[in-house]
Amino acid sequence: MPQPKSPQTVAAANGIATDSAFKAVAPPVHLSSSYAFDGFGRAGRYDYTRSGNPTRDLLADTLAKLEAGAGAVVVSSGMAAIDLVLSSLEPGDLVVAPHDCYAGTWRLLSARRAKRQFEVRFVDQTDGEALAAAMACGPRLVLIESPSNPLMRIVDIREIAAQARSAGAKVVVDNTFLSPALQQPLRLGADFVVHSTTKYLNGHSDVVGGAVVAANPADVEALASWANVTGVTGAPFDAYLTLRGLRTLFARVERQQQTAAELAGFLQRHPAVKAVHYPGLRTHPGHEIAIAQQRGFGAMLSFEISSGVEGVRRFCGAIEVFTLAESLGGVESLVAHPATMTHVSMSADVRRAAGIGENLLRLSVGLESKADLEADLARGLEASASG
Ligand SMILES: *Cc1c(COP(=O)(O)O)cnc(C)c1O
Repeated sequence: MPQPKSPQTVAAANGIATDSAFKAVAPPVHLSSSYAFDGFGRAGRYDYTRSGNPTRDLLADTLAKLEAGAGAVVVSSGMAAIDLVLSSLEPGDLVVAPHDCYAGTWRLLSARRAKRQFEVRFVDQTDGEALAAAMACGPRLVLIESPSNPLMRIVDIREIAAQARSAGAKVVVDNTFLSPALQQPLRLGADFVVHSTTKYLNGHSDVVGGAVVAANPADVEALASWANVTGVTGAPFDAYLTLRGLRTLFARVERQQQTAAELAGFLQRHPAVKAVHYPGLRTHPGHEIAIAQQRGFGAMLSFEISSGVEGVRRFCGAIEVFTLAESLGGVESLVAHPATMTHVSMSADVRRAAGIGENLLRLSVGLESKADLEADLARGLEASASG
């Protein structure tokens, strides 16, 4: 039996030099939709790519090892990954989700609830009483996002997972914002981890994909079977690109979070900024929990501009290095305005209740020079204040 490898080694080298045909060092991409039988009634390891594919399986194996799970199912988007986890629910079952969850998740849960496929309660999971009241309703599934999007709220995954377990619920953590390089929810008691691999795992903003990792082999089996039934499994070329991006995950994330921490400090000192939301700041309410359950504070942050939405408009007109765009986790730095972009699918009331104001901007910090990024923020903030 080979010894278990450290996560850095898994990311850089899982599957390297295992090609049996030509001893290729980089694992080949297998695009074939179909596989020849060994003979009459004798299927080989693979028969059809919707059900199984060597390139996609290597990505799944790598993700399962990185998240310390029993296995993973690779699907066509982060939303498909979340929906796959929801597939086990029956009418009447209750899902407890954060009130400030990813807007696409909020939309999916709300739409399936409207079709009476299950019940949903959105709660502020940082509010102990509200959470206890939701747990008392006997949920089947509890969804956690920590840090949350876009306000970077942190919840205690170990604590919520323990409460969910006593309530008889399974726990799924959306680990997209940190990646397994910085947080491993299954080690904190979760049953499932979901990823939009579109973000840090691929890291190069050229694939939309998702994955579910499960702690329990029976859950992996059930998820893989349902993904084959519905045909939501990911494309082999996407899996190849994602695996290629994943090779540099640790180096990227470490460098990006270092720059993000410095930019958070810069923003906090700037007079045109009203508030900064970054778990690495000692003033952040989730700072201590983040230290306890994360290996770093990540490269996502958000901040509020003092001069309101008009200041935001002037900021966006002045920046040159940050690109105004949705998504996150790539090598390039992006800025998004949640109220009009990423969170526009939430109703205005829900957005307000979640604390997402018109003056809030979210940054995904990339690999550019810190000096260039800081100068860009200074340029934008100066413009924001000049109205
Ligand atoms: C982007 C994202 C998703 C959805 O992923 P897609 O790949 O866009 O479908 C889900 N959760 C979080 C936290 C995300 O950032």
